[in-house]
Amino acid sequence: MVNGFIAARARFLYDDSSMSASRAAKTAEQPGHGSPVPFPHRHLLGIEGLSAQDIEILLNRSDYYVDLNRAVEKKQTSLRGRTIINLFFENSTRTRTSFELAGKRLGADVINMSVATSSVKKGETLIDTAITLNAMHPDLLVVRHQDSGAVALLAQKVGCGVINGGDGSHEHPTQALLDALTIRRRKGRLEGLSVAICGDILHSRVARSNIHLLNTMGARVRLIAPPTLLPAYADRLGVEVFHDMRKGLTDVDIVMMLRLQMERFHGSFVPSTREYFHFYGLDYEKLGFAKSDALIMHPGPMNRGIEIDTEVADDIHRSVIHEQVEMGVAVRMACLELLAQHLPNWRGTTPAGT
Ligand code: ASP
Ligand code: ASP
Repeated sequence: MVNGFIAARARFLYDDSSMSASRAAKTAEQPGHGSPVPFPHRHLLGIEGLSAQDIEILLNRSDYYVDLNRAVEKKQTSLRGRTIINLFFENSTRTRTSFELAGKRLGADVINMSVATSSVKKGETLIDTAITLNAMHPDLLVVRHQDSGAVALLAQKVGCGVINGGDGSHEHPTQALLDALTIRRRKGRLEGLSVAICGDILHSRVARSNIHLLNTMGARVRLIAPPTLLPAYADRLGVEVFHDMRKGLTDVDIVMMLRLQMERFHGSFVPSTREYFHFYGLDYEKLGFAKSDALIMHPGPMNRGIEIDTEVADDIHRSVIHEQVEMGVAVRMACLELLAQHLPNWRGTTPAGT
């Protein structure tokens, strides 16, 4: 009987649909400061599937954490007692560090597990790893994996909240959120802005997450890339496609450059990095076609001299690349905190067959 009650409560707590649209609408009107507003999802697996209201809840709360992070006393207690595991199957320095700082600033215990030290190398499967970790009762898992869809699969097997820290060429939702926060704080809005995403779109989870977010928030997206670095379905993404940087950059508000992801190249996608820079690298001449106050962005790490001229990247008047990194910590604090709202305050059976 008691177990039945716990199971029913678990279902309620873990059911995404348990929050009505009207409740979400009401909470979105609340200001971003003070206590967090309810976020109607248990996991953050991608931007696809989030509403404009969900995105606003996340961005408003992130704004609050930007201010906190600039203060001397940065420590909060909202995740005290919680355990976060950063499970990185693919190398990462900045994303992992950013999540680690975010979790620690909220008072959680954060453990980093990378593939080099895990038994995945010894042949353990993704699912085995998930089930093993789940048995240790983490509250939140941040997962990066080289295969698209792997994080969503893992989320089905665990009883905690899962954040996608980047899966293959699929999604990198916290990157798109930090990009949106950077833009919104600089330009005051997202709606109606013209944003060019340039370069290796084919291999980029950053591009995919940004396209979903910017489309949802009413920005106009242009993709600029050679045909070899565009996915076949690019014209079905609700964007304008250009192969010429000068044409594509004309009058845009935001120039978002992407790294040439050579580690994902199976075959030859560009004749040479020199030629690539000549046609698609961002230099002052090409930037001259964008609006005079257009911002330059890059998710990092940058290949200087390949997709972006080094002086352009460091231009303190135009480049917001360092600000993106700063926004990353705030966004991750907001994501961790908002997902933690769905965690039970008791330890008992974990939900849904885990
Ligand atoms: N891809 C880079 C890394 O893995 C940067 C990032 O994810 O923020 O560190
Ligand atoms: N840091 C971003 C990512 O992990 C972009 C990149 O690596 O080029 O997807």
